[in-house]
Amino acid sequence: MLNEFHVGRTQRLSDNPRLVQACKGAEHLVPVYDWDPSAHIGPHRASFLLGSLASLQRSLRERGSDLLFRVQPPSPEVQHLYRQSETLYHVDDLPTSLDRLPGVFTSFRRDLERHATKWCVPISAPESVPPLPEGMVCADVPTPAELGIALPEADERSAFPFHDVAFAPSEHAALAHLTQYLKSQRIDSYKATRNGVIGTEFSSKFSPWLALGIISARTIAESVRQYEREHGANDGTYWLWFELVWRDFFAFRAMTEKSVSLDAEPRTTNAPFHVWCQGATGCRFVDAAMIELARTGWMSNRMRQIAASYLIHELQCPWQWGEWWFAKHLIDYDPASNEGNWRYIAGQGADPRGGRRFSIEHQQQTYDPHGRYASYWLGEKR
Ligand SMILES: Cc1cc2nc3c(=O)[nH]c(=O)nc-3n(C[C@H](O)[C@H](O)[C@H](O)COP(=O)(O)OP(=O)(O)OC[C@H]3O[C@@H](n4cnc5c(N)ncnc54)[C@H](O)[C@@H]3O)c2cc1C
Repeated sequence: MLNEFHVGRTQRLSDNPRLVQACKGAEHLVPVYDWDPSAHIGPHRASFLLGSLASLQRSLRERGSDLLFRVQPPSPEVQHLYRQSETLYHVDDLPTSLDRLPGVFTSFRRDLERHATKWCVPISAPESVPPLPEGMVCADVPTPAELGIALPEADERSAFPFHDVAFAPSEHAALAHLTQYLKSQRIDSYKATRNGVIGTEFSSKFSPWLALGIISARTIAESVRQYEREHGANDGTYWLWFELVWRDFFAFRAMTEKSVSLDAEPRTTNAPFHVWCQGATGCRFVDAAMIELARTGWMSNRMRQIAASYLIHELQCPWQWGEWWFAKHLIDYDPASNEGNWRYIAGQGADPRGGRRFSIEHQQQTYDPHGRYASYWLGEKR
């Protein structure tokens, strides 16, 4: 019986309590990743994920271990490690038990503030990782091409250009990005800029690394806390924490609510859904967002909200179809955050408030008054 350690969505060595625990007293340990060949996964997401696993494999090899990559669905016993998000706060430290979790974000956040709830201080990487059993050899993590996934060219317009070393799917790049982000002091203006739609700098860009557990939310929050000690707290530092709490809220809700996302593929032949996916609705603002997603695997939070609202409220398609498409393409795909946000805009599940229907015209006037974003992705002058 192999002593398997499923890396799941904690693809890092530092601040990894589960790994430290698995290493304790083990004579041998086999770090494993099971790749489900039936999963619907687009080329950018596949590339980022495989890149992260290859990077983790290199780090493990440097410590005398390795990563066993298997093409098979994870067994039901370990499924949760591949779906569940790691949170900033430990579930046992929450002011209420999971079954009494507030249904509304604001109550959840206020409870944390009222109780001054603490997150666990990040821990170091294990000093050493137990070796594989004698004679066991692991092949290199495959490239997308080796799995039959054709890669489109890197698009230099990407807001998360993960083909550049600075945005690479590696623990080293994630930690360097955190350091650079705080050093640049861009966090001070985060609250004012976070609704931007073009470029690498308007928001923190932590999500792809967080989604695969290449960095932990604790490491980010702790560094922000240290930044506040040195430079003072401000709107920006508070708001970044606030957004990480949204992420926790969806993660904890997902642990208590039954997922209602689709098991089967949506009807891609449905005409409105098809044009939405292809970025061919005729609404330039929305089309630009869908082209950005297809070309890069990324879309800003503002454009995600607008594209989602358009699909649900203008095209009258089931929100699960959009959730499915985002899950396939987003390099930061996180089951809880994706489903939670889609449900929120559709007005279902936690914090319903009747859903969020955005006036596309108003959004465009507010966030892209000169049509720069639409031209940027659709490639035409207005
Ligand atoms: C329809 C829809 C689908 C989404 N799907 C995903 C998804 O699959 N994965 C994902 O990580 N985020 C998802 N989001 C949330 C949000 O759009 C991204 O987290 C954010 O755009 C990532 O960019 P950033 O790291 O620069 O975020 P920042 O604005 O810098 O925020 C910092 C961090 O806070 C968290 N965060 C911010 N906003 C949200 C939010 N609304 N919900 C949950 N966490 C948040 C993220 O971890 C993010 O990295 C979705 C939003 C919508 C409207």
